Amino acid sequence: MVAPRPLVTEIGRPYWEALAEGRVSLPHCGACDRLFFHPRAFCPHCGASGPGWRDVPGTGTLYTFTLTQVPVAPDFADQPPLLLAVVELAPDVRLATTLVDVAPEAVRIGMAVAPVFDRETFAGLTLLRFRPG
Ligand SMILES: [Zn+2]
Repeated sequence: MVAPRPLVTEIGRPYWEALAEGRVSLPHCGACDRLFFHPRAFCPHCGASGPGWRDVPGTGTLYTFTLTQVPVAPDFADQPPLLLAVVELAPDVRLATTLVDVAPEAVRIGMAVAPVFDRETFAGLTLLRFRPG
């Protein structure tokens, strides 16, 4: 089995295009000047429609994590244990991801993390992972 490929929707396409170029771009609401994630057609803070996008450094802090001891789904059965994580890129802006280049015992909540642009897992699609940074 092969892990499922993320579905690139029209609303989220700028996020994926930025990752392909080695940038991290988040939805940004021009009405209330706030970032958010995941991409959607309306700002979750003020309800304004048609949010734009803003590039961010991509560095953040580890909000929480877990080490998978069993596959999270049958499609992941051929993968080694994963460090599933939630990373905070801006105040209250968090995304689900995986940690790489770190031993599980070295991971600490609150640690600084930096983006890793994974172009290997899926041809033509860049995934955003994180390592200690
Ligand atoms: Zn807003």
